[in-house]
Amino acid sequence: MPPPSSMSRRLFLQGMALAGAMSAMTFRPRLAAAASTAETRAGRPQQAPLFPSAPLMRQPFAPLPAGSIKASGWLLRQLQIQAKGLSGHLDEFWPIVGPDSGWSGGSGESWEDGPYFLDGLVPLAWQLDSPELKAKAMRFMDWTLDHPWENGMFGPRSNDDWWPRMVMLKVLTQYHELTGDHRVILLMTRYFHYQLQALPGRPLRDWGRMRWQDQLVSILWLYQRTNDAALLELARLLKRQGYDWQSMFARFPFTQKTDADALRKQAGGSDAFMQDLGLQVHGVNVAQALKASPVWSVVSGSAADRDAVRHQLQMLDTYHGLPNGMFSADEHLAGRSPSQGTELCTVVETMYSLEVALAITGDAALGDRLERIAFNALPGALTDDMWAHQYNQQPNQVECSLHRQPWTTDGPESNLFGLEPNFRCCTANFHQGWPKFANSLWMATAEQGLAAMSYAPCTVTTVVRSVPVIIEQVSDYPFRQSVSMTIRPHHAITFPLQLRIPGWSKGTRIAVNGMPVEVTAGFTTIERRWEAGDTVEMVFTAEVKIESGYNGALSFSRGSLVYALPINENWVIWRKRGPTNDWQVYPGSRWNIGIKPDTSVDVSEHAVGEIPFAGASAAVRLTVRGRYVPAWKASEGVAEPVPAAAEPSADEGEQSIILVPYAGAKLRITAFPILG
Ligand SMILES: [Zn+2]
Repeated sequence: MPPPSSMSRRLFLQGMALAGAMSAMTFRPRLAAAASTAETRAGRPQQAPLFPSAPLMRQPFAPLPAGSIKASGWLLRQLQIQAKGLSGHLDEFWPIVGPDSGWSGGSGESWEDGPYFLDGLVPLAWQLDSPELKAKAMRFMDWTLDHPWENGMFGPRSNDDWWPRMVMLKVLTQYHELTGDHRVILLMTRYFHYQLQALPGRPLRDWGRMRWQDQLVSILWLYQRTNDAALLELARLLKRQGYDWQSMFARFPFTQKTDADALRKQAGGSDAFMQDLGLQVHGVNVAQALKASPVWSVVSGSAADRDAVRHQLQMLDTYHGLPNGMFSADEHLAGRSPSQGTELCTVVETMYSLEVALAITGDAALGDRLERIAFNALPGALTDDMWAHQYNQQPNQVECSLHRQPWTTDGPESNLFGLEPNFRCCTANFHQGWPKFANSLWMATAEQGLAAMSYAPCTVTTVVRSVPVIIEQVSDYPFRQSVSMTIRPHHAITFPLQLRIPGWSKGTRIAVNGMPVEVTAGFTTIERRWEAGDTVEMVFTAEVKIESGYNGALSFSRGSLVYALPINENWVIWRKRGPTNDWQVYPGSRWNIGIKPDTSVDVSEHAVGEIPFAGASAAVRLTVRGRYVPAWKASEGVAEPVPAAAEPSADEGEQSIILVPYAGAKLRITAFPILG
């Protein structure tokens, strides 16, 4: 392959030097022949997507190489906000990922934070084609790639934990797709060969044991490029040493809010988090585990393994599900009360697991779930300018102050908006949410076509059946219910276009060049000869859905947006944190409202603002009818669990209640008690 134009000559020569060194080793990676390339407008060779082939199990979809999809419209604005916020500046004032990071050769933090940060910074930098952000990322990438250990290990020498390397491998695969940097394949190959030898004597433990499936994604990524049989041996070894999530979910004994006292008792004075029970019900572990069975099925060839993710989600929904699409985890599984919280790491890791699982299973319902989380829980935990985030967000969040309740195991700062409330993991890890979502909007299909997996404005530039194809997608989805696509193949070509039909849209209409086509549930396939300028119009029907949850509480959704009552917010700086602050947020209006299940609902649409999810310029509002419920109160800044039957105020009658998209209300009620 020629050196990509975006890669400096120095990098290329280093890559060649390493390649020379590698040739002396017993194994020499072979670049898979399938990687046919075509020049794109960006000038970088566009890689064709790769699918697992025998002995691996076939899968219906595969991610397009990172860089194939560029956000536009509101999604581009969201990424730009992210770049102007913490993601683009964290390294300038937060020492954890600053110049002294162990992942750039310093003596500072040398565990998971550097890789976490890069897992979002790398795709964000290339999404925005930002020289500044790319330079920030290259400080870490160059050091990591240029300083492997003699034995094949890589990363900071002060820390040999397998776990942070699992994260860095995810970074390396994206970075290679974006740049073609030759050092990546060599480093990963050497590392996996080293690990295969070392794991029997130094097996997976704690986090790495619970999160082995994330490394499996990277192993399969490399196998598709080198066909190195040792990689499948390593995959099986990881499975044997890793925690068996599928068996745990098959039994699923964790049907209640985690008993924090039991956790601590089991720990006997040592760290409760690191005990076996604590790790099994740990929210981030559970989020990452959602990909375990599908990813393993690629190796095992078992359809039962592949489909186990559905049962896993069902168990989480049944016992810990929340109206924002997530499960409670603050920081351990916490039951269904909408006053319980979910950690931001759990949100972004669930999203990534769903993106991976969607490709392998082809289950359109996973796309519905992904959108519900991406458009609600993700922006809900961050300030509009993305300079501060919460550790735990609650669907019913009436005050973000220092409080110990109702968390299972988390500390009093967990609810604040700030730089690193409670613990620093989310500060480093949240960056992956939007950029990876953008990168997974479209995927390649096993029939050599393209599939729209989630909807948001973007442009896809890829190769279909060796022909360069560009698809421009214009939409204000999820704030509006229509999507317009223009297909621009380099020359006319026949291929199937698959379009995910959201489960909530019962009357979807699709037209190609103005002519209606038949819509099928799940994915609709349109196979035809596509010519430059062909158009596809999709119109979804989004009825307001009233869902019943904990204690019968009512939640409102319309399409993939969840709606909440915004409570007036009084933001108070708790402490200064360099260019940002830690904030407490106090309520300035009543929130204890009950609603009848037969309430009227009016929908009004407004312009989508510069800040897409900002509550002040909510793009959609619902108006419902409710009554004040004086007996439903907060204690210690937390809304009491929603009462099963709420007694309305005798003094006040019914009133109009305006709801906005969940993320626009940083203080909110999402689950309303039913009026008794
Ligand atoms: Zn976290």
